[in-house]
Amino acid sequence: MATSYFNLELFLSLTKKSQRAVDKIKPSRMQNQNRYSPCPCDSKSPYDKCCRPYHQGLPAPTALALMRSRYCAYALGLVDYIIKTTHGQNPAAQGDHSAWRNDLLRFCEQTDFDGLKILQFEEGKSQSSVAFTAYLRQAGGDSRFSEKSLFRKEGGQWLYLSGEFLDK
Ligand SMILES: [Zn+2]
Repeated sequence: MATSYFNLELFLSLTKKSQRAVDKIKPSRMQNQNRYSPCPCDSKSPYDKCCRPYHQGLPAPTALALMRSRYCAYALGLVDYIIKTTHGQNPAAQGDHSAWRNDLLRFCEQTDFDGLKILQFEEGKSQSSVAFTAYLRQAGGDSRFSEKSLFRKEGGQWLYLSGEFLDK
């Protein structure tokens, strides 16, 4: 069973070919996101009425809302939100956090986030799953992938636990 960290392995294999220093990374795309513009999670709602409240600290009410807000955070380069909403048992959360943060920054910087399609949402009381296709481009190439993500609720907060790739 292949595990994934939002396609981070693919990204890392790409960046090994063209290693870039973290200090060359442009500022977060957050600067360009108007709160009244469509939300980058592809919901067709304004960012202000969609993922922004979660990025500002409101707990996402469902694993699906958390999943969308994490995709949106990737698109906007809000890497601290990604880290904050990852379960402590996820392998990435158990390693060096500053290296992880840098990897996330590079991933966000070198990826275009074209859209999100939710395939399935299985809701449970303390564990839920969301299957989705993320439409990404990296180095000009199509890097779309489908994943089934597992979420667990801890202390009233939904957190991303793990994911596995789905056949396209
Ligand atoms: Zn959204």
